[in-house]
Amino acid sequence: MNTFFNLKNTDKVSLSQIVRVSSETWVHENGFCANCLCGLNKFPNNKPVADFFCPECGEQFELKSKKNKFGNKITDGAYESMVSRINSSDNPNFFFMSYNLVEMTVNDLILIPKHIFEINLIERRKPLNSTAKRAGWVGCNILFNMIPEYTKVYYIKSGSVMSRNEINFKWNQLTFFKSQDLRDSKGWLLDVILCIEKLGRKEFNLNDIYSFESWLKNRHERNNNIRAKIRQQLQVLRDRQYLEFTSRGLYKVL
Ligand SMILES: [Zn+2]
Repeated sequence: MNTFFNLKNTDKVSLSQIVRVSSETWVHENGFCANCLCGLNKFPNNKPVADFFCPECGEQFELKSKKNKFGNKITDGAYESMVSRINSSDNPNFFFMSYNLVEMTVNDLILIPKHIFEINLIERRKPLNSTAKRAGWVGCNILFNMIPEYTKVYYIKSGSVMSRNEINFKWNQLTFFKSQDLRDSKGWLLDVILCIEKLGRKEFNLNDIYSFESWLKNRHERNNNIRAKIRQQLQVLRDRQYLEFTSRGLYKVL
């Protein structure tokens, strides 16, 4: 895997077209499926589905690319089609690519597995106002800052390429999110992991996590028993060997 865009076959005129074609070509030539390490095939351009698929296991992949750094939010297309895409039975994995326009290289390439990508990572934007060409149209943002670091499968991190083994190991580590019994609480689980990451240390106690209570209440408005819900997620994370209980009320990230 190299980090350079291949500009040879680009006959496009505008910069945005060149970037779109180059980034897609790059994934086609360098990307592979984290599940079975097989190269990726492109869907025909006129198909309104994902960008790539794995010919071996059938996983689908959609590419989102951004200049320089990702930032907190990534602007995306229509809200409704994004929601139905995520809720569909063949929902895609997402590749997030940040690139350097001057050097035409890939800075970061991160895969977010489809079993991580949750509906509460999508923000509905305000409808376009009546004077706009597409008045009433509703777009969406991807809340990139709400994706826990733990759930990111890095292919390239700040220009450094990860090994195929590392990528496959990380993918396998995250497969427990597929589990049916987590289906209704996945948003909670991801948010509690995010809180633990925000603490920025390996050991913490319950009160440290309770300090995020109002933030979590905001994210999960319909739930009134936030603390019980937090403790429940910590249990799940212990069962999945993400953390261990060292003594009463003390937790350690493994
Ligand atoms: Zn595959």
